[in-house]
Amino acid sequence: MRASHVVGLAVASCLIVQGCGGTAFVLPPVSDREALLAAEEVDANPSLPQFPRSSAYYRETINRLDRHLTERVAAICARAETAECRFAFHYVDNDEVNAFTDENGDIYLHRGLLDHLESDEEIAAVMAHEMSHQIAGHVDESTRSVLLGALIGGLLMGVGAAAAGADQDGADAMAGVGMDYGGRVGLLTFSKEQEREADLLAAYVLARAGIDLQRAGRTFEVLAKLDGYALSSWRNTHPAGAERIVAWRKAVAEVDASTDKLPTMAID
Ligand SMILES: [Zn+2]
Repeated sequence: MRASHVVGLAVASCLIVQGCGGTAFVLPPVSDREALLAAEEVDANPSLPQFPRSSAYYRETINRLDRHLTERVAAICARAETAECRFAFHYVDNDEVNAFTDENGDIYLHRGLLDHLESDEEIAAVMAHEMSHQIAGHVDESTRSVLLGALIGGLLMGVGAAAAGADQDGADAMAGVGMDYGGRVGLLTFSKEQEREADLLAAYVLARAGIDLQRAGRTFEVLAKLDGYALSSWRNTHPAGAERIVAWRKAVAEVDASTDKLPTMAID
């Protein structure tokens, strides 16, 4: 019963929230066959070495890359009509394999993920991906759907309880539960298209900063191998690793061929 509510809410949120499922920029297409071949590549070399360094090293590297990337990203923010082209990075000293951005515009990078990244270019790729969620306005879209999900969840559960003959206190309590469920559904709404869009924009952000895209691309091979270890929240929201590898390679080819080093807007 609850499960069907949750599915229904997710659909309702997507229908109502503008931009859900759509992207502002043209994404490189990835065929099933291409994704399958990339998955075979990943399986053929399953080694997943770690390169643990000190927290001081990570903090210094993040600060340096933050300045380097942020100084050169203005043109991409302008094209995406980003409200605030500012980024606040935070290093998190724990083992979780995770990186994320929140509704306040803060970006968190966990040591558990950084330990798997060999070069500064790879760390920069993760940073540029999280920046790109902000640049493309995904955080605003996601925050709206969290609020909307909570609202719809509250309404549906409250109405359901009232219909089932519960008194007002009971209906209010049920509405509270519904808001909680609805809100959590909303939290998962960085769609896979938004993740793909963040990867595409990241390629442009890195290129503008003069960062080697081939070296940065190892990040996506690492992420594909980490899929099995990642937090479920990461797995739920991020596209399958092999598909991302193919899309990244196509994004790199697109950036290399681009004369203005700006992503192409999708036509509405
Ligand atoms: Zn992401």
